[in-house]
Amino acid sequence: MSEQKGSENSSGNEASSHQAGHGNLTLFIIGAIVTAIATALILPSLLEKETALSIFHGIGIGGEVFLRALMMMVVPLVVASVMSGILGLGDIRKLGKPGFVAVGYYLSTTVLAVVVGLMVVNVVNPGGESSTSPTDTTAQQVVAESEGVVVTATDKTHLLDKLEALTGMEKEKIAKIFPMLEGGLPGNEPGIWMILGNLVLMLFADNLLHAAATTNLLPLIVFAIIFAGMLTTMGERVGAITNIIGQANEAMMSFVMLLMNVAPIGIFCLVASKFGSAQANGQFLEVIKSTSGFIITVLLGLGLHGLVTLPAIYFLFTRKNPYVFIKSMSRALLTAFSTASSSATLPVTMDCSVEAGVSKRSTDFVLPLGATINMDGTALYEAAAAIFIANLDPNVTLTFGDQIVIAVTATLAAIGAAGIPEAGLVTMLIVLNAVGLSPEYIGSILAIDWLLDRFRTATNTLGDSIGAAVVDQSFEK
Ligand code: ASP
Repeated sequence: MSEQKGSENSSGNEASSHQAGHGNLTLFIIGAIVTAIATALILPSLLEKETALSIFHGIGIGGEVFLRALMMMVVPLVVASVMSGILGLGDIRKLGKPGFVAVGYYLSTTVLAVVVGLMVVNVVNPGGESSTSPTDTTAQQVVAESEGVVVTATDKTHLLDKLEALTGMEKEKIAKIFPMLEGGLPGNEPGIWMILGNLVLMLFADNLLHAAATTNLLPLIVFAIIFAGMLTTMGERVGAITNIIGQANEAMMSFVMLLMNVAPIGIFCLVASKFGSAQANGQFLEVIKSTSGFIITVLLGLGLHGLVTLPAIYFLFTRKNPYVFIKSMSRALLTAFSTASSSATLPVTMDCSVEAGVSKRSTDFVLPLGATINMDGTALYEAAAAIFIANLDPNVTLTFGDQIVIAVTATLAAIGAAGIPEAGLVTMLIVLNAVGLSPEYIGSILAIDWLLDRFRTATNTLGDSIGAAVVDQSFEK
């Protein structure tokens, strides 16, 4: 046990010695993002479309290498950190109160995010009658033009085919987001009961290696908690394995710090290639203009939640300045923006959170779980998007009851969404289906989802890190 504590201290010292260097790193990352966006805007206007696209494709390989290096760490890091978090507590029963606080935090902040989203969308009313945004007309056109995809809720087609047609995503990716759909459910729509059942099933896997191979984190977390919980009851007999887990966790965190040295380059490549190819394909500035009402709504909602609601919660529990904390998390937030994946960002979130002064035991346990189930940005987005879509459909008038149904399903859909790019777009089908909205209107937000996804992923990551700081207060001192 003393070894555990010793290792905790040493990693704390190491973290603080990295702090100064990381200030510059944040500036480099911001510089990389600004340069990348400038490149993305300028290059397509100077070159032929095909040439610009192939340059952005080439740059994208650098980004993909960085992304894969981050993803490569996620499974071992989650297993090692959750286990060493439990071992650091010394007794799994000590997890009771923090566990309760964590789940309470995840749920209440997600519901708050949905409420903020609903309020903002009702006030701004994008796509609605009084709206002056060009969204009104163009979104309808986007629907008509969305690659000729006409899919109605009553189609008897294979659900995976339908989702593939609607979102343009590969079936494998969709099956990752909705594990239950892997076999396909012809004619069935994903409803509230299905997602509730799915949420319970998501905690377990019939094959742990398969879960690891597909970065399905929840069963790994459940296994890690139980396994480490057992170890804490076995005393000296398992001293060696206990030490190995603690040391593996430290080694993984050093790996993250190493990778952060190349983060500005990786982030430049990721952002330049995604924004650049979108601009070359006419899906960046043009789409921003045509969907401005919806974009403003989502950004306003995310801004309110991330800069007012969550900081207020942080202050309430810690009595510290929330904006100083948010600043310390900036590397993670920028990485979330660049990767559009809270799972891929997890290693950086853990690194920043320790650096920001959150204890290792809270970080180790709250962040992996949070990255998987706590998605405030996604929930807010899904609620706002559902109302926007309802506004576009002239045959639909939503009642107050419908808005409650949207709030509940958006919360569940966000919990069920994986921490990967554009997962929220797919799980949004649950929300639309629950209030009988036609999924074909997803076409109206399809072209801009890649961009909004980045902002909601950053909000998701912020929610997780503030959660780690809040839950930290509930551990026995
Ligand atoms: N990309 C988001 C995340 O990884 C999920 C989503 O909203 O699509 O957190």
